[in-house]
Amino acid sequence: MTFTTRFAPSPTGPLHLGHAYSALLAFDMARAAKGRFLLRIEDTDTARARPHWEAQIHDDLAWLGLAWEQPVLRQSDHLETYNANLMGLAARGLIYPCSCRRSDIRAALSAPQEGVATAPVYPGTCRGRRMDSRRPGDALRLDMARALQAVAQHLPLRFRETGPRHPGLHDITAAHLLQQTGDPVLGRKEIETVSYVLAAVIDDAAQSVTTVIRGGDLFDTTPLQVLLQALLDLPTPVYHHHRLIRDETGKRLAKRDDARAISTFRDQGATPADIRAMVGL
Ligand code: GLU
Repeated sequence: MTFTTRFAPSPTGPLHLGHAYSALLAFDMARAAKGRFLLRIEDTDTARARPHWEAQIHDDLAWLGLAWEQPVLRQSDHLETYNANLMGLAARGLIYPCSCRRSDIRAALSAPQEGVATAPVYPGTCRGRRMDSRRPGDALRLDMARALQAVAQHLPLRFRETGPRHPGLHDITAAHLLQQTGDPVLGRKEIETVSYVLAAVIDDAAQSVTTVIRGGDLFDTTPLQVLLQALLDLPTPVYHHHRLIRDETGKRLAKRDDARAISTFRDQGATPADIRAMVGL
């Protein structure tokens, strides 16, 4: 199988040095493996995604010297596909509507429950609600216990990590998913909009991605994504989570961090080679 990787930014702000590192690393690894490098625009967050940020992504990446295959997959063009997959899970009894607000969840978690003072995950208040009780504004959650039953014959799930921090084969147990992930939101409040975790899994498979290269902050999302692959009968790629680029105080860079935006460095006269040096490539 041809080594295939992707850079998958969300067009919700300027690309910063952390994105530059991620994109350059993925591009370099694809080139070293004589493989394919793809760009994917993850714009399912319609409240925050903007066309001018998307245009800026293309511009910044081309300036950095990257080239990617055409056509570029834009997730907002595939909402029906994601929704069909979500409804397929719902038809199997794995999804329920949830009307809890953040404040409800916090309140439920601070109440003592079965010996656990606070659980890090959704307390399951709406679990057991039927799909036909979904009201406008309800999110859709995966019933983790049922999902695990559906993939019981594949447990423990497993993925290979090649990043510097946790290299090797990782087993994902049912206990880990129940205790660390719980019942995640897969369908957002806006009808027809799915969460990033689901859309990314569907697209990684549709685009034959063999290696997911992304920031280490997404390492903890991987067990859920591997579970979704098992539920949807999709292949699990290799994962490579890379170090994060931090500012001088050690904080990781955020979208609103304009000071480290690639465009700011461009305006100040930096060259693509300067950017590579700044991120340690
Ligand atoms: N769209 C995600 C982000 O901008 C990246 C998702 C991924 O690489 O899997 O953080």
